[in-house]
Amino acid sequence: MLVSAKEILIKAFNEKYAVGQFNINNLEWTKAIMTTAQETNSPVILGVSEGAAKYMGGYKTIVGMVNGLIEDLKITVPVVVHLDHGSYDGCLKALEAGFSSIMFDGSHYSIEENIKLTSELVKITNEKGVSLEAEVGSIGGEEDGVIGTGEIASPTECKAIADLGIDMLAAGIGNIHGKYPENWSGLDFNALTEIKNATNEKPLVLHGGTGIPENMITEAISLGVSKINVNTECQLVFAEATRKYIESGKDLEGKGFDPRKLLDPGYKAIKAIVKEKMELFGSINRA
Ligand SMILES: [Zn+2]
Repeated sequence: MLVSAKEILIKAFNEKYAVGQFNINNLEWTKAIMTTAQETNSPVILGVSEGAAKYMGGYKTIVGMVNGLIEDLKITVPVVVHLDHGSYDGCLKALEAGFSSIMFDGSHYSIEENIKLTSELVKITNEKGVSLEAEVGSIGGEEDGVIGTGEIASPTECKAIADLGIDMLAAGIGNIHGKYPENWSGLDFNALTEIKNATNEKPLVLHGGTGIPENMITEAISLGVSKINVNTECQLVFAEATRKYIESGKDLEGKGFDPRKLLDPGYKAIKAIVKEKMELFGSINRA
């Protein structure tokens, strides 16, 4: 069933595990993630960036696809359709189309403007029973191929945003989007503890889940991280499995060119990595 992220993250926070957000790009991606959640009895969050929404046709197409799969495949575990790094306008459009959760990324505004826009969205999402994720500071990413450490969010700013009534907070603790560089200095657990103490038990979100060592993930969860975003890793395993299929000439054998066959290795690779992450995050059998 389609639910807001609010309850499942409060439960995750209290019971010390994390729910994975896996970003989707098409039907195969969505089906792979949802069926894995059902098979493992895990709650799941489907992340949709504005770019991915545009690619798939639009927000309504996505809500229609997810609701259709829930019904046709008899998915009974909690499924969240969540806008990832939304603009203010993107948030309004996703809400109108029926998304059950949104993230407003106001990190590129001044903290005053971020507070103003986030509080407007708190009002709207509360009325609709939709969950809201906000971001403080910005999560680093690949820029010109140079990345040292990700940004560390200010605990004071985190408190200001958390107190507005949001449901979960993304705050930089040295994490970054995309692949991590060789010389990455790791997550800053002191910063995470300070943010946790400042935000009064608000479920925290870890972006850039790809490539963070498992022991750091486990420690982050023990310190209040209840939602972990995984995107790049699914893309990497999908591409690798598809390349293997083509390089071994399987698309040239019989009806190997059939898209249902061509995309199947990538589909299975996504299922395997999603299950692995759910095990690591501790969300299996928590539906
Ligand atoms: Zn992110």
